[in-house]
Amino acid sequence: MNRLIRRLDGDERVDLLRAARESDVNPYFRVMESATGPVVRVEGTDKIMLGSNNYLGLADHPAIRRGAQDALDRFGGAVTGSRLLNGTMDLHLELEAEIADWHGTDGAIVFTTGYQTNLGTISAVAGKGDMIVVDAAAHASIRDGAVLSGATVRKFRHNDVADLDSVLSEPIEGGGAVLVIVDGLYSMEGDLAPLAEITAVCTRHRAALMIDEAHSLGIFGDRRTGAAELFGVADDTDIRMASLSKSPSSTGGFIAGSDDLLDSLRIHARAFLFTTSGVPAAVGASLAAVRLIRSEEGAQRADRALANASTLRTGLVEAGLDVGAESPVPDGGTATSPIIALHVGDEMEAIALWRSLFDRGIFTSAALHPAVPRTGAMLRLCVMASHTDDHLRSAVDVISQTVAEGAK
Ligand code: PMP
Repeated sequence: MNRLIRRLDGDERVDLLRAARESDVNPYFRVMESATGPVVRVEGTDKIMLGSNNYLGLADHPAIRRGAQDALDRFGGAVTGSRLLNGTMDLHLELEAEIADWHGTDGAIVFTTGYQTNLGTISAVAGKGDMIVVDAAAHASIRDGAVLSGATVRKFRHNDVADLDSVLSEPIEGGGAVLVIVDGLYSMEGDLAPLAEITAVCTRHRAALMIDEAHSLGIFGDRRTGAAELFGVADDTDIRMASLSKSPSSTGGFIAGSDDLLDSLRIHARAFLFTTSGVPAAVGASLAAVRLIRSEEGAQRADRALANASTLRTGLVEAGLDVGAESPVPDGGTATSPIIALHVGDEMEAIALWRSLFDRGIFTSAALHPAVPRTGAMLRLCVMASHTDDHLRSAVDVISQTVAEGAK
């Protein structure tokens, strides 16, 4: 056997996955047997779903199903080509125009996934001699795009504006441009980036700013375009990115921005050029979802998602559980988010708690290293606008009892 294949055996993360699988506590690759609603059929049993990014509850909404179905009926299963060649449908153009109108930008460009949006965009706009500065908790796709770009990559401590300032104060090794990249809402802790301060520091250092709104789109801001809008810095953001796979409950990703930026991506973003365009059903579902998010119903669903988050958070805090703090917002108050981090610390304890909750009818997501720091294992709980008070009350009861019993 060659060295490469031999070394696959004995990898620490693979061993952990196998140990978890053998003792049947594996929190990953569980099998869903129904649509993603507030309650989901998982391996033969109904569970309250607290492990989905379907924040607005749109995944099984009739309008989104219809959008997907109409596109499927018109275009069939796939387009079998890249956006550059035969993979651009009129639906893409409608979707891009809708996103641009929503964001008030020259235009928008839709990629096949959010991951590819970050990979393709970051590696297209920055290169050797440039410096990319990312928050230490930024999403993997941001870090991967930064590495792929060939630029010098620096991290600053999570949400620490003073540390960002000091990293930006160091001379740029290659003498090129500087790009700062942050998430609007962090997917693990559920905390917002302090975007007013971050934008001010970027402006002072003449650094470009890119914000990934994957988890904040559809939730924050009067128009629900995300955290940049909430903090009033949307117009100061050079590159606005979001995924279509969380609140819009489809798949895909986009950049909204200037014509110069978009034309450059159309010709340089390799993850846009060298991959097949999204399946028609996904593009049709995205278009229907964006329209719904922009409507009055979208506003009501965003309010409901945040009200549900408050209910769950308050219940868990009252039960004495560690769910971290809410994020400061410009009006001087704090904002909750649809993502609530239930801190556990130890990985095996988090896995055991995950399993006990699973057995008691609650589906959560276990966040382990490298998604979080090594001693920062947690269960990630996400609410949907479609959870009822009963779902949330019973989730609080089960979670608090299970933790109190020591996850037996
Ligand atoms: N950015 C962030 C912050 C994310 O959380 C994710 C997905 N978890 C992505 C980008 C990638 O998006 P997608 O799932 O659409 O590929």
